[in-house]
Amino acid sequence: MLIILTRELKINKIFKYLQEAAQRFFPDRQLYFRSNGDVRFVSITQKTQIFTVSVLICLSLWFVVTSYNYIYIYEILDTKNQEVNVANQNYQTLEQQYTQLKNDIEKSTAVLEQRQGYIQQVLEEEALYKTPENNVLPLINESGTAAKDDIVTDGDDNDKEAKNLIRNESLDRIYVDLKHVEMWQNNTVRTISKKIDNKLTFLKETLENAGLKETKILELAQSNTPSSMAAQGGPFIAVEEEGFDNNAVNNQTFDDLYTKRNNLKELELAIAFLPISTPPEKFYVSSKFGVRRDPITKKWATHKGIDMAGWTKTPIGAGGDGVVIKAGRNGAFGLFIEIDHGNGFRSRYGHLSKLKVKRGDKVVANQLIGLMGSTGRSTSTHLHYEIWFNGNPIDPLKVLKAAKDVQKIKQQQYNS
Ligand SMILES: [Zn+2]
Repeated sequence: MLIILTRELKINKIFKYLQEAAQRFFPDRQLYFRSNGDVRFVSITQKTQIFTVSVLICLSLWFVVTSYNYIYIYEILDTKNQEVNVANQNYQTLEQQYTQLKNDIEKSTAVLEQRQGYIQQVLEEEALYKTPENNVLPLINESGTAAKDDIVTDGDDNDKEAKNLIRNESLDRIYVDLKHVEMWQNNTVRTISKKIDNKLTFLKETLENAGLKETKILELAQSNTPSSMAAQGGPFIAVEEEGFDNNAVNNQTFDDLYTKRNNLKELELAIAFLPISTPPEKFYVSSKFGVRRDPITKKWATHKGIDMAGWTKTPIGAGGDGVVIKAGRNGAFGLFIEIDHGNGFRSRYGHLSKLKVKRGDKVVANQLIGLMGSTGRSTSTHLHYEIWFNGNPIDPLKVLKAAKDVQKIKQQQYNS
C-alpha cells in the first residue's frame, strides 16, 4: 500500500515536471504577419510545437542510423570485392602457370617424338640395338591427348580452381614422364654415338691404310656426288626450321650424334665409288705395286698397279660401277680398258686378249669387260690392273683389303 502510494506520488511528480518543462520550452506562441496595413496572426499551440520537434528529432535519428548502416555495408562490400579480386588474380596466375606447363609439355613432346623417330631410324639402319620392349613414348602420347581434352571442357567458375589444381598435377606427372623419356633417349644416343665414333675411326684408319685420305675423298665426293645422293638432313634440322623451341630438351648429345652420323654417311657414300671387285675371279699376284725391277729392261721402275696372273682368256670383270672411258690399243699396255667410277676413282686393265666393251659403255661391278691375255709389252699371260684415286695410282691389293674391312664394318664385325 505504501509502495503504490509512493509510486503514484513519483509519477505525479514527473508528470508535473514535464508539464512545467513543456510550459517553459513550448509556450503557446503567435506569429504575426503584416501586409498592406492589415495585421494577421497564426497561433501555434504547445501540442503543434511538441509534435513538430518530435518529428524533427525522429528524422534526425533516422538519418544518423541509415548513414551509419550505409557506410558499414559499403565497407563490407569493399572487403568482399577485394577478396574476389585476389581470388581472380590467383586464378589467373594458376591459369598462366597451367598454360606455360602445357606449352612446355607440347614442345617437349614434339621434340622428343621427332628424336624418338630419329633414334629408331638410326637403330634400324645401324642394327646396333633393339628398341626396348616397353616403349615409353606411346604412353606419353595418350596422356598428352587426355590432357588436351581436359583443357577444352570448362566447368563452373567455382570448380575452375580445383580443376586447375588437378590438371596441374596430372600435367606435372606427364612432365616427369617426359623427362624420363628424355633421359632414356640421351643415354641411348650417347651409346650409339660412341659406336658410330668407333666405326668412323675404324673406317678412317682402313682408308688411310689403303693410301686414301678421308678428307680428300669427302672433298671429291662433295663436288662429284649428285645432290640426290648426298646425305639427307635429319629430323631435328626440320624442327628448327619450323621454329620449334628445341631448348625444351637438352640438345647436346643429339647434335653430336647427328653430326657424327652425317659424317659417317658421307664417308660411306664417298667410298661407295671405290672399285672393290676383283677383276679375275682366280689369280695369283705375279708382281706387286711400287718400285720394282722391270721384267724386260731390268731397270728399277715404279709399277703403278699389280700383275694378276692366270689362264689365257680368263674372264675379266669391272672393278666397280662406272663408265668406260678408254677401250682399245694403248702402246705397251696392249689391248687396254679404263673405267671412270666417279668421285676421283678410276681402274685400268692392260694386256687383254679381247675387249667386250667399247668407249662410253656403262658397266656395273663384275660385268664382263674383256679376256685375259698377253698383248703389248708382256712376257706372260696376266692382267695388269691399276686403281687411281684423284690422279694418283694406289695399291689395288690395299684397296681390296680395305674393301673387305669396310664389309666387316657393315656387318658389325669390327672391334668396338
Ligand atoms: Zn704390270
